[in-house]
Amino acid sequence: VVVGAGVVGSAIAMELARRGYEPLLLEQGFDVGEGASKSNSAIVHTGFDARPGSIEATLLARARPLWPAIVEELGVPFLRIGALMLGAHPGDLARLRSEMVPLARSNGVPVEILDGADVARLAPWAMPDASGALLVPDESIVDPFWLTRAYAEAAIGSGGSVRLGAEVVGLSLARGAVVAQLRDGATVVADQVVNCAGLMADAIASLAGDGSFTISPRKGEFLVSEEAFGIDRIALPIPGPMGKGMLLTPIIFGGLLLGPTAHDQLDKRDHSTHRDTREVILHACAGLAPSVAEARPIRAFAGLRTVSSTGDYILRASAVSDRLHHAAGIRSTGISASPAIAQFVADQVERARGWRPAPRPRRLEPRQLDAASGGAVVCLCRSIGAAEVAAASRTAVPVTTLDGLKRRCGVTFGDCQGNLCAVAAVAALANASGVPVTAVTRRGPGSWLFGAPADGWRPAVARHERPRAVPPPSTEADLIVVGAGLAGVGAALTAGHSGRRVLVVERLDRAGGAAVGYGLRLGRSERDALQAFETAGAAAGIGFLGSTTVTGLLPSPDGWVVLGQGESGTIELRASSIVLATGGYVEPAEHLGLDGPRPAGIVTADLVHQALAAGLLPGRQAVLVGDGRSADATWRALVAAGCDVVSMTTRTPDEVRGDTRLESVRFGDAWTDADTLVLCHRLLPQPFLLRGLGSLDARPGCPAPVDQDGRVADGLWAAGTCAAPDVDHRTSLADGSRVASRSIESLRAGA
Ligand SMILES: Cc1cc2nc3c(=O)[nH]c(=O)nc-3n(C[C@H](O)[C@H](O)[C@H](O)COP(=O)(O)OP(=O)(O)OC[C@H]3O[C@@H](n4cnc5c(N)ncnc54)[C@H](O)[C@@H]3O)c2cc1C
Repeated sequence: VVVGAGVVGSAIAMELARRGYEPLLLEQGFDVGEGASKSNSAIVHTGFDARPGSIEATLLARARPLWPAIVEELGVPFLRIGALMLGAHPGDLARLRSEMVPLARSNGVPVEILDGADVARLAPWAMPDASGALLVPDESIVDPFWLTRAYAEAAIGSGGSVRLGAEVVGLSLARGAVVAQLRDGATVVADQVVNCAGLMADAIASLAGDGSFTISPRKGEFLVSEEAFGIDRIALPIPGPMGKGMLLTPIIFGGLLLGPTAHDQLDKRDHSTHRDTREVILHACAGLAPSVAEARPIRAFAGLRTVSSTGDYILRASAVSDRLHHAAGIRSTGISASPAIAQFVADQVERARGWRPAPRPRRLEPRQLDAASGGAVVCLCRSIGAAEVAAASRTAVPVTTLDGLKRRCGVTFGDCQGNLCAVAAVAALANASGVPVTAVTRRGPGSWLFGAPADGWRPAVARHERPRAVPPPSTEADLIVVGAGLAGVGAALTAGHSGRRVLVVERLDRAGGAAVGYGLRLGRSERDALQAFETAGAAAGIGFLGSTTVTGLLPSPDGWVVLGQGESGTIELRASSIVLATGGYVEPAEHLGLDGPRPAGIVTADLVHQALAAGLLPGRQAVLVGDGRSADATWRALVAAGCDVVSMTTRTPDEVRGDTRLESVRFGDAWTDADTLVLCHRLLPQPFLLRGLGSLDARPGCPAPVDQDGRVADGLWAAGTCAAPDVDHRTSLADGSRVASRSIESLRAGA
């Protein structure tokens, strides 16, 4: 039995299974990797700065040659990008030479010294006055979720098994066997137990009467930035008296990780993050790369390091019985050393038990290698298709939670933090798993996402559907309008009336965008425009391609190529001109960085309306933040569906409470009990498509960079919220029309 399916337990299970034993991995969480293994810097450290002679240094050295095979066999995303330890002061170069170079050499890690000019050439993003740097070319980054899951799946592939939601609460080592008792009353009998319970490893030891070590938590808070500021290597400061300091780490699938802090605490469950810490992290990281001061983080999270009372890894048999083996105290390098820890522990266990290995074929679960793509786009921020979500829902380690799905395919990771895709993602997961949507939780019991609305309630949103042939009559047009919200409708009608061939591509199956989705009380001109689009659009030469998400724009000699993806596959469209009318989304709480933990139930109005349209209740007792038409409509929709909206305010929340689902929200000094916080306070533009063209950086909130006519580039225009998020919805229609007129004038001038 291996207790704890973090990266260490999962690696050990794989190693034991491959040697022919039958490990059972017991994990209290509802996915593998729910502990420190999901919240870390994701660096595969070389160990250049490890304390020589420590178990940690030895195992980091042993792990280095094992990585290529791990990456190759398990197909784990891994990039050798190198690290720069940057010196800011004139004396730093001498320190790097006299302290870090000998340390790295004694650990057998190749390093190079760079002077200030080298740094400026190699890392133009680094602070301009860098006196020099230590280059560690072999430092690498990995996807830690993928790695942990791949280990566990490889264990299963070689005959091991994994049981999730299985908390070990008792251990008996008497009479020549191990009996592990689980919280649900079940017992498991085994020859051997390996304690890989991370922060709780001391608690597992004490279940067997072993009090030989303690583990205490040291919190590290991180910020995530979608914009990487050109930073292509790990950047770290020279360690000071307070420790290693904060790093800048490129994330393997894009973006940048800033942090971590280091703060000792007592509570092993406290993963809260704090708004004040954001400034501390941004300030420290801007010291390494000044442009980072402009970062707009999309998320904060915290991981808890396991600080052991011995100051080193604890990899040994318990003095109580060698049937209990510890793999504990693996503080800041568990990912990096995992392949070597697994071999080391498996050797020790074999010796203790007198086992002889009978290696099994190294079989991987085939689904892990599936290259799934296509289907309707579920995640807009990252263009993740339904086929990828479905494939991720069927991995060998079962996925039952939204967080598990997120770590398998990337949904909910992007700018919107799931507020635009969670409803579809949860529905896809429920469908693949054959459970009701309301049974899918964020990360296990208590963290519910959706409930059932009041009896007899029906979604109130008026449908403005416009049944049209899909695919459209032609894949070529004079003007393609991306998005059929009010701005897109305004643009299409104006261009259509001027006799141009217009094609509107819309991700939903209807026009009207957020105005219709939110059930806003529309003005007469808005209603008339939607009516005209639906009834007379075809006659005016306006094609409508619904249920199709535009995933890319490419300039071509004749204008633009538009790449779209829908249920029936991908489509390539061509036009002389494009009007981008992709609207906006409500700024999620993750961007604000509220103090506290991250329970389920903190959502935006976008998610609320999607959930209600799908017949799901997003909360039972809500606090609503916002005012104006959208907030009023959200309030009406929630109340009609049976949600008790206990307060509606324009104040920004300060702090939240709740381990699994939200319990209360603090505004100033006052706490309000609620299981749901709905934000409807501020719209951010959604011009994500321009990032691919390099017209825009990846910081949230950057509008499409338009001139006064709405032009972004030759033949490329933007209108409505995606260009001007602060402008009221009411002007979107007119703005779309205005920009379309300019684009038609420009086409005429070109012709
Ligand atoms: C801020 C931070 C930054 C880091 N950066 C890096 C880095 O860049 N590179 C690197 O190599 N390492 C890094 N680390 C360290 C690395 O994350 C850890 O060493 C590694 O994840 C530890 O893995 P583990 O399996 O021992 O523990 P965990 O991942 O914590 O797994 C322990 C598991 O045991 C389970 N468990 C506990 N009690 C029970 C029970 N009673 N019954 C059943 N299951 C139980 C838990 O739910 C958990 O899933 C970092 C860590 C932190 C916190």
